[in-house]
Amino acid sequence: MSLRLYNTLTRQKDDLEALPGFDPNNVRMYVCGPTVYDYAHIGNARPVIVFDVLFRLLRHLHGEDHVTYVRNITDIDDKINARAAETAAAKGMSVEQARVEITAQTAQQYLDDVTALGCLKPSHTPRATEYVARMVAMIGELVTKGFAYPAEGHVLFDVSKKADYGKLSRRPLDEMIAGARVEVAPYKRNPMDFVLWKPSDAATPGWDSPWGRGRPGWHIECSAMGEALLGETFDIHGGGIDLMFPHHENEIAQSEAAHHGHALARVWMHNGFLQVEGEKMAKSLGNFITIRELLSGWRGYNWPGEVIRFAMLSTHYRQPIDFTQSILEQATVTLRYFSTFGFYEPTVGPSDEFLDALKDDLNTPRAIAELHRLLNEARGHASNRPNEMSKPNAMLNMETFTAANQLAAGLMFLGIDIRSYDKCWVENQGRESIAQNLEREVEAAIAARAAARKAKDFKESDRIRDELLAKGIVLKDGPAGTTWEVKR
Ligand SMILES: [Zn+2]
Repeated sequence: MSLRLYNTLTRQKDDLEALPGFDPNNVRMYVCGPTVYDYAHIGNARPVIVFDVLFRLLRHLHGEDHVTYVRNITDIDDKINARAAETAAAKGMSVEQARVEITAQTAQQYLDDVTALGCLKPSHTPRATEYVARMVAMIGELVTKGFAYPAEGHVLFDVSKKADYGKLSRRPLDEMIAGARVEVAPYKRNPMDFVLWKPSDAATPGWDSPWGRGRPGWHIECSAMGEALLGETFDIHGGGIDLMFPHHENEIAQSEAAHHGHALARVWMHNGFLQVEGEKMAKSLGNFITIRELLSGWRGYNWPGEVIRFAMLSTHYRQPIDFTQSILEQATVTLRYFSTFGFYEPTVGPSDEFLDALKDDLNTPRAIAELHRLLNEARGHASNRPNEMSKPNAMLNMETFTAANQLAAGLMFLGIDIRSYDKCWVENQGRESIAQNLEREVEAAIAARAAARKAKDFKESDRIRDELLAKGIVLKDGPAGTTWEVKR
């Protein structure tokens, strides 16, 4: 089975390898990275995790040496400048010095955070400041070719010159104008024209250009970095759905205009929105969660990176995700179950069904369902033999060993190292942990239900069963008693 990915550009799943120009020896992916001025939030974590899984899959399919993954760092941006101006005033330094300090520190925090979430280092993590010369050259080309015009120290992209502008988001122009909350400025020919370059005053960070000292707009940063590291046309461009318009639309417009109409990317991928407990995440709502906060203490627990990652991958990347304490608890318990058999280096690859699920537009919920099947298979074989589950792996019977081995391989493939999860688990011993609480609660409920059944109080026993079911706990009655599992 070949890799099929949902392409926002065509609104269908495309077979990547069948797309014209695809070279299996040189697979290239660009994902929009963070604007570095503050801790990354949990919404930022989603694309990083999703595209890390895709990076792993591409490396598996085409070989590590044949895949190039670029995730940029935006270190030129007006939000950064605003933060730098505050710091500069407080510390008595220049805004540029403060910008350098803030972006370096935040980029490092970001890298530490996403490493804790199990993400591999991309092939390149370019910073916008390293590619300003390329941006200036690209803007110059756009002016020369008539796609852009200088005005009052700015350079603007003229959307009227790009007949297919809007082809990614497929929105009518008036809706785009409303959606983009476009700045109406006297120097613009058309309200949809967007900034490629803008002037910087003496206090604001800036670089020399043919249009005076200034700084690039955000969109041209990605176009220039992508072109420099991946070439004019590459395979996959990814990012959150919130970036589709205007950011990605503008990347397409300016890159294609600069490159004789050649496509920027063959496949455009967008991950869905993330909400927190049913609401849009916002600092003003008090539900703004940073990755750092989750890792170092949220609601009383230090949630391991493996748990956050697994919780995130339990929903398909194109679906919206509702991030709750409950999904972290369920991920904790599920990984605990998986770790029953997962303490060793897998000696086989993941199962075909697992890989096929990922090849079908990165269907991680289906891949995880396969891991549950493998776990059940391993447990089924093990339960026929008393004490099997407490044996060292080398002494497991063959059927149990194979299923458990494929389970471990699948987890490893998803970037979840069950051994470090287990280490973290051990380190957390000595204080109440989520899963221990849950286990105790469920075991107590099972005992109460057994007592009710013995007393022929079936109403009560059903009530207990339904109460657990509402919490996602499924009871299974068997000859050896009642077992339970967490519903996916
Ligand atoms: Zn971008």
